[in-house]
Amino acid sequence: GLTGNRGWRPVWREPEPKARYKVLVIGGGGHGLSTAYYLARNHGITDVAVLEKGWLGSGNIGRNTTIVRANYFLPGNSEFYSHSLKLWEGLEGELGYNVMHSQRGLINLFHSDGQRDAFVRRGNAMAAQGDDAVLLDREGVRGLLPYLDFEQARFPIHGGLLHPRGGTARHDAVAWGYARAADARGVDLIQNCGVTGIRVENGRVRGVETTRGPIEAESVAIVVAGRTSQVAAMAGLRVPIESHVLQAFVTEGLKPVIDHVVSFGMGHFYISQSDKGGLVFGGDLDFHPSYAQRGNLPMAEHVMEAAMTLMPVIGRAKVVRSWGGIMDMSPDGSPVIDRTDVEGLFLNCGWNYGGFKAVPASGWALAHLIATGAPHESAARFRLDRFRTGRGLMDEEGTGAQHH
Ligand code: FAD
Repeated sequence: GLTGNRGWRPVWREPEPKARYKVLVIGGGGHGLSTAYYLARNHGITDVAVLEKGWLGSGNIGRNTTIVRANYFLPGNSEFYSHSLKLWEGLEGELGYNVMHSQRGLINLFHSDGQRDAFVRRGNAMAAQGDDAVLLDREGVRGLLPYLDFEQARFPIHGGLLHPRGGTARHDAVAWGYARAADARGVDLIQNCGVTGIRVENGRVRGVETTRGPIEAESVAIVVAGRTSQVAAMAGLRVPIESHVLQAFVTEGLKPVIDHVVSFGMGHFYISQSDKGGLVFGGDLDFHPSYAQRGNLPMAEHVMEAAMTLMPVIGRAKVVRSWGGIMDMSPDGSPVIDRTDVEGLFLNCGWNYGGFKAVPASGWALAHLIATGAPHESAARFRLDRFRTGRGLMDEEGTGAQHH
């Protein structure tokens, strides 16, 4: 239908890499692109290049199940994700780009008294942070999600925690929106440019080696999600990150049926419906370290079983696609936005299952750290040395499907 159109202009430039930049961001995913954008937008630093080994958005930013929420419990995470959700709420106006942010409400189901207590505490923490949380009883859930199986005896639904401002956004549009806006402010976006080495002299970063030649820089930020250990090793760093595959699934397009994001509390399954009509769902990690961007059958089987347990009606839908992404799993389930022992070298990683919702605040905080030398107040606890000292660990991996 579009073949008759002529004169399409690229949305961003395709510059040749320069020999030297003030700041290099390794990784053109959501976090790398937002970091570059906020360096330019908040701090006026435009002598920046994003180096991406594939194409922009080829990593997890274009592979996730798009949940955006601010229902974290622990100090440190709570204020950070609260800040991120507020940035999401103004993002389309900020970028001048439709990222299809849809605050359709997120419902975490609970199936026991113990789970109810945990969600009451979480809801109170969310309210104390200034975010929104509504405790639903069984009938409250039934009113909103009548298609679930309320008769099943094994894991009866006792209620749910509704987060009305939670929802979804179109993942790759977020990458494109940040990319276009960063490019418009003068950031160079360099695709097909893999970083193969990090040059360190006398404890200070000097630049990087790439598949398109060496590039010098004053500051270098490693923002490569599932490839963090490999890239950090180029600077001689050993980081506490394991890479694991996480898979997701989508059905054929259906008429609107699911108008929230829903997670099961007793198995690894969560679901929403995309604007194209596909039911988008997933579960947990495959649970062995891997760099494969596809998953294995045991977790696929587990997710399908959990889906059938919670909403047997899904058995009529056909799954058309599944895929995987490489998660940067940290020991406490919380991220790192910090400097490293190498002067001028910064690290952004440890997003585990849930870094999509963090994209705006993560870029905001890393740009602040690079530009000012001090951590942003919303991310002050995301320190790397907590794994060395044991102080300040934030064990918030979540429970089951809640943690995406
Ligand atoms: P990426 O997009 O992976 O960006 C990293 C980039 O670095 C890649 O493009 C890669 O090519 C590049 N790179 C790597 N090595 C090099 C190198 N040597 N040189 C140059 N470039 C390099 N999060 C949520 O909040 N909500 C969800 O519902 C959710 N669901 C998920 C479901 C699945 C199936 C998956 C896989 C993830 C999900 N996530 C979710 C997590 C989220 O997608 C990630 O935490 C987040 O996208 C990671 O940050 P990123 O976007 O910067 O990563």
